[in-house]
Amino acid sequence: MRAGDQWRWCTTAGLLATVVYYLLPAGTLWSSAGYNTIGLLAGLIILVAVRWHRPQRPLAWILFGVGMILSVLGDFTWVYLERVQHVEPYPSVADVFYLASYPPLITGLFLLQRRRGRELGSLIDASMVATGLGLVLWVFVLHPVAAVDTASMLERAVSTAYPSLDALLLVMVAGLLIDRRLRTPSTDLLGVAAALLLVGDVAFSVASLYFDYSGRAIDWCWLMAYVLWAAAALHPSMTAATPDAPDVPDRVGRGRLVVLGGSSVLAPIMLFLPSVGADTVDRIVIAAGATMLFLLGVARMAGVMSKVRGQATELERLANQDDLTGLHNRRRFYRALGEALTDGCPQIVLMGLNRLRAINDELGHQVGDEVIVRIAERVRVLAGPDVLVARLSGDEFAVLLRDAPEGGADAVAARLADAVHDPINTRGYEVLVGAGVGVAGGADAADPAEVLRRAGVAMFAAKESGEPYRRWAPALDERSVEEARLGAQIRHALGERQFQVVYQPIVAMPGQRVAAVEALVRWHHPRLGMVSPARFIPVAERNGLIVELGAWILETACEQLVRWTAELGSDAPDRVSVNVSARQLARPGFAGTVADVLSRTGLPAHRLTVEVTETAVFDGGPAVTALHELRAFGVRIALDDFGTGHSSLGLLQAVPVDILKIDKSFVDRITEAGRHAVIAEAMIQVSNGLGLDAVAEGVETAEQAQALTRIGYRLLQGYHFGRPEAEPAFTRPAVSTRA
Ligand code: C2E
Ligand code: CA
Ligand code: CA
Repeated sequence: MRAGDQWRWCTTAGLLATVVYYLLPAGTLWSSAGYNTIGLLAGLIILVAVRWHRPQRPLAWILFGVGMILSVLGDFTWVYLERVQHVEPYPSVADVFYLASYPPLITGLFLLQRRRGRELGSLIDASMVATGLGLVLWVFVLHPVAAVDTASMLERAVSTAYPSLDALLLVMVAGLLIDRRLRTPSTDLLGVAAALLLVGDVAFSVASLYFDYSGRAIDWCWLMAYVLWAAAALHPSMTAATPDAPDVPDRVGRGRLVVLGGSSVLAPIMLFLPSVGADTVDRIVIAAGATMLFLLGVARMAGVMSKVRGQATELERLANQDDLTGLHNRRRFYRALGEALTDGCPQIVLMGLNRLRAINDELGHQVGDEVIVRIAERVRVLAGPDVLVARLSGDEFAVLLRDAPEGGADAVAARLADAVHDPINTRGYEVLVGAGVGVAGGADAADPAEVLRRAGVAMFAAKESGEPYRRWAPALDERSVEEARLGAQIRHALGERQFQVVYQPIVAMPGQRVAAVEALVRWHHPRLGMVSPARFIPVAERNGLIVELGAWILETACEQLVRWTAELGSDAPDRVSVNVSARQLARPGFAGTVADVLSRTGLPAHRLTVEVTETAVFDGGPAVTALHELRAFGVRIALDDFGTGHSSLGLLQAVPVDILKIDKSFVDRITEAGRHAVIAEAMIQVSNGLGLDAVAEGVETAEQAQALTRIGYRLLQGYHFGRPEAEPAFTRPAVSTRA
């Protein structure tokens, strides 16, 4: 017998036992014993099932078991009185047990239904059903029983107690069966059992009242009630009968509507019964019941209506609001901007955050979300009153100033740009966020999309130039048109071999041996002449062509060093440095590309240095992973333009670095006593301390070279030692430092 099947066996065995009971001769001790055995077993099975299944609320089931056993004790007592004492008193001690069995059953049923956040609606429904059926009970059972004149006070009290307790039981059963969410196979069995108990009780009262009933015709109701109650306890779903699920929506299904409607018409129907209509007390009770039903119905409707209204408002809110920040969303912003454009000349301020993706990747989305929420608060506060603030996408915020002068929008933009840089402390991190801010006005813009586009162009221009914010102007569009044209030409130039790689020496002091060269790309444009990498590299980065171009530069430079080594032997430079842009580095597979180039050209990995900027690796993520992979092959890594970016010692720990390239701006003023000289000196100490090489960039004069050598720099690079050339001279020392 599988554990899940016990309830079936129990039901089948109970059915058989009931049949056997009817086969035993009526009125004998055998039949009483059979009846009581079924009841006792049922009560005991419930108690045992509680130990087996260990439900979350065992108390309800223990109460059921106790109730059953009390009722069986009543039966035993009755048999004892009838068979042994040969008396049939009413009421008797048996009634004490019978009546005592109700409170545990009713309490148990109540406990099963009690839950957190129980819907008021279900409670009202259960009350409606109970009121309707209660009325029927009153008219046919309670009232007639109470009205029997011949009975003593005690007799009447007991006779009234049964149907009253049955009515209470009814409320509980109705509550259990009516609420879809409470229902499990186990509660269904319970409901049927309790209903059978009820039917038996009512049938017994009616039968004894109107027909002078004595016999066994009703016994099967009680017997099967016992059996099904035990089956409910055995059903595996009894453990799940703890309905703590208030969030499932309370739906008024068709079945429930029929039950509720039926309960509501019971009162008027009864008025049509001739015997009822004549009795004043009955009419008063029915009137009260009908009023009660009406009020409950109204309350139910009101509940449903207010819920529908609430849902409509919620929908409206969801459609126009950004969930995370509570700001308006893009849809709402678009609509408001459209309206503002038809009525006047609005201004918008658009702010795009810089490092959000990196923050999400590195610190987790919770921190990212927290950052967005904080920024949203700042924007809301700084934007001022009477403006619409929206979050347009993951990292974009917009402010709509409906009728502001241009200066007003500029002031907001300046405030936002200023405030966004304040560090955000969250979850133990101090997070720094940057942003670009763009401003655009509605003058001569046809639709919201155009205004937003302009603000976007301005925002990117601000990000690029590092200005706090930028107002859109037609020139900005021309620039992007120009950029698009240049981008297209880069692709063409790659095919036409318009690019060239030149090499600038990096010399070792003293002695000025060319220890390494830095590869720098040149573009010989057929019409524009020499285009500076400072101009086209950023364009290639933005349109993605840097990946292809970069791979070509890398391969060319490696080939070149292999060729020089073959030609010059030990006079050839030890290493070649190749610049790698942020976009190249962050692209998956970059390390693989480098490995391929090395194996194709035959250059040993340790002779290649990859130059990256601090900004490219500051965001962490795939760029840093790529560096670790390169490092693992033996490729050296140089941090370019050191001192101009985010320079932090923390970065040097997180990123594998071999060489620091001190930016030209520190070298320029090295000969003047002042801040720059101090910083340059501190930087060589840091790199010595960390065991890194340091290269001073942009050395243009002998004085600078001397000063740098004096404070400890061993590797120098700059026009003073050699300009970038296709074939630099490696054998002769370039220029004497002691000139
Ligand atoms: P960078 O990597 O900092 O390169 C150094 C730049 O300073 C080079 O300009 C070089 O010609 C110049 N320079 C070297 N010595 C001196 C000096 O003594 N005085 C002055 N005034 N300048 C000096 P270039 O070649 O125009 O490159 C500019 C930037 O373009 C580079 O800065 C680098 O960021 C980027 N770049 C150049 N070639 C490549 C490349 O192949 N790939 C990538 N991704 N970027 C490149
Ligand atoms: Ca460089
Ligand atoms: Ca540099």
